[in-house]
Amino acid sequence: MKAAVVRKFGEPLVMEDRPIPSPGPGQVTVRMEASGLCHTDIHAANGDWPVKPTPPFVPGHEGVGLVHATGEGVSGLTIGQRVAVPWLGYACGTCKHCLTGWETLCLQQLDTGYSVDGCYAEYFLAEAAFAAKVPDGIDPFEAAPLSCAGVTTYKAVKVGNVRPADLVAISGVGGLGHLAVQYAKIFGGTVAAIEVTDEKLQLAKDLGADITIDARTEDPAAVLQSHGGADVAIGLAVDDKSFAAAYAGLRRGGRLVLVALPAAGTLPIPVFDTVLNGTSVIGSIVGTRADLLDVFALHAAGQTRVIYETRPLAAVNDSIQEVLHGRAKARIVMAP
Ligand SMILES: [Zn+2]
Ligand SMILES: [Zn+2]
Repeated sequence: MKAAVVRKFGEPLVMEDRPIPSPGPGQVTVRMEASGLCHTDIHAANGDWPVKPTPPFVPGHEGVGLVHATGEGVSGLTIGQRVAVPWLGYACGTCKHCLTGWETLCLQQLDTGYSVDGCYAEYFLAEAAFAAKVPDGIDPFEAAPLSCAGVTTYKAVKVGNVRPADLVAISGVGGLGHLAVQYAKIFGGTVAAIEVTDEKLQLAKDLGADITIDARTEDPAAVLQSHGGADVAIGLAVDDKSFAAAYAGLRRGGRLVLVALPAAGTLPIPVFDTVLNGTSVIGSIVGTRADLLDVFALHAAGQTRVIYETRPLAAVNDSIQEVLHGRAKARIVMAP
């Protein structure tokens, strides 16, 4: 099979021939139909973050495909079942985080395409218990972005405790943000989308944003304050300035949810204002298996739209450049 491998941080991925992996106990081998390109994969390939993967490794954590082989002891998944393989590849199931519905915080977790080989390959392995069944009727190219971009923003909207009539600022309308706009609307929010290109501002409008803010020419915090301030702001742009602007655009009692992960991101928080305004600043990392079920159910019910473009896996390095230069429409999804 073909796999796109990170051999050295910061260098182009190498297309390699590898044997199709055999599933161990509790695992399945999945034949790839679609594999989303998330910004996290680029950070992984560059070794950007404090906790680094170990080359050689295969990135990718928005993998969708059909179960090709099942390992010993696998129940609940059969050959031919369509599954999605998300970032959370494994969690222990017994620690305090796992037991309280926060498996995404499990210290024993394995992360797909980071601590274990991921989905930039024609076949990939998954722990059967963490491979999500994709409901019939959902296109694999739509299921792929939903399994990271979707579940991550759905969770962020939940963590931000968005309530009907809340003003929700969404900073960044790319792969994640275009879904965040829709989830914030589903939760009843009034959405203000912040972007820096005409295409993405238009995309936000098309997907239901009530207010669009062009950060090239407008001060996002001032515009948000002119509407009374945001109850919730969700930071999805890989840019420190956007976090500061979102913080400054909050109403009293507002909640800033940080999701994007700039390599060395910092957000200076004035203690005095934070205390007096009762502001919350919350980090939110992906979502649980239960969140992903919700995301698929909403999509199957026709409540969300996934905007994507397809590219062959062999063009992965060009696709990464498209994302880095902001040329991709929302999500790039690779086909084998
Ligand atoms: Zn991701
Ligand atoms: Zn655990």
